Amino acid sequence: MPVTTPAAPPAATALPQDFGALLREDPEIADVLLAELRRQSGTLQLTAAENFTSPAVLAALGSPLANKYAEGYPGARHHGGCEQADAAERIAVRRATSLFGAEHANVQSHSGSSAVLAAYAALLRPGDTVLAMGLPYGGHLTHGSPANFSGRWFEFIGYGVDSESGLIDYHQVRTLARSHRPKAIVSGSISYPRHPDYEVFREIADEVGAYLIADAAHPMGLIAGGAAPSPVPYADVVCATTHKVLRGPRGGMILCGAELAERIDRAVFPFTQGGAQMHTVAAKAVAFGEAATPAFSAYAHRVVSHARVLAAGLEAEGFDVTTGGTDTHLIVADPAPLGVDGHTARARLAAAGLVLDTCALPYSDARGIRLGTAAVTTQGMGDSGMARLAALFGAAVREEGDVLSEVRELAAKFPPYPG
Ligand SMILES: *Cc1c(COP(=O)(O)O)cnc(C)c1O
Repeated sequence: MPVTTPAAPPAATALPQDFGALLREDPEIADVLLAELRRQSGTLQLTAAENFTSPAVLAALGSPLANKYAEGYPGARHHGGCEQADAAERIAVRRATSLFGAEHANVQSHSGSSAVLAAYAALLRPGDTVLAMGLPYGGHLTHGSPANFSGRWFEFIGYGVDSESGLIDYHQVRTLARSHRPKAIVSGSISYPRHPDYEVFREIADEVGAYLIADAAHPMGLIAGGAAPSPVPYADVVCATTHKVLRGPRGGMILCGAELAERIDRAVFPFTQGGAQMHTVAAKAVAFGEAATPAFSAYAHRVVSHARVLAAGLEAEGFDVTTGGTDTHLIVADPAPLGVDGHTARARLAAAGLVLDTCALPYSDARGIRLGTAAVTTQGMGDSGMARLAALFGAAVREEGDVLSEVRELAAKFPPYPG
């Protein structure tokens, strides 16, 4: 079934940036960007990996640093005129190390996948064995998909979750580690709604002499706000995105101890990337600054409490929520008890202005739906908004009533960029 979201009404929406020049110079693309802004503010964004960055982050992204070439690292660039690029990157690195309590930060990775690629490049050789969550259980493409470099260049062994509880089966992780002796073990997932037990992962890695790579792309913002445990004290390398719950610009980052700093930096540049995107590095600095505030910590905790309310509401509506709930922003639910599969549910929800993804369900051939509360929490929808949302989910999937109008009303009440 095709997934189409209805066009948003031409609601008056505050522009987060000065679009004046674009409107004058290129109305064709300006129209597309304005339509996208109306789509984002006229529907509700439940895609688990998405959020709304602040106007300050958007301003840094649209700044003159976008013009600057700065291959290398602060104080050691291959280009002239890097004084301000150096200043921006030093601030970003200082804020990242202080925010996450890490000895070293590399803030140049273009994306979460690039960060994982660099981590593998720093620690592994092609052909090495890596133990990571299997893709049918929620592993990311970079955790051994045959369609990704990871599956082509390394021998991936997949661990899974318990068929009853849906929780990571650490006994299986240990058994697989003992028999396959991986060079690295990866924690992290695109859809696991609970906290990985980093202490147990560390123990298992130590027992078999493996590196522990934490791919914290999803929960990094919760970690920044103290709403999820940090892998930094346990993992050799922590990879993350800056654009999910962390609410920064689209990009990646890597944290590690001082002893791996040089290897990680060289694995990013020049091994897997060229010039850093300095406007994005500056925007990451802005986001790290925002994430260090008490307001962000309160936000991160609200993201989790909202997800818990929404998960309970979805269960009450008849959805089967995996692991029975969530400890994070992520919810995975099987709509089968409502008589539809994930694809049909997603299409019906999209038609009602509720935008989200399908995802694999462990031990099932059917797909479920995956959603997250990062964006709607940024919009300030509150716990009562989450209870309302759950009811709208039920109605949309059962095709009862005019859910789209109600979604439009909610979206208008909580604009992502008020002003
Ligand atoms: C999102 C994600 C990534 C990749 O991030 P991109 O920026 O899309 O490349 C990697 N690993 C995990 C676990 C993720 O959730």
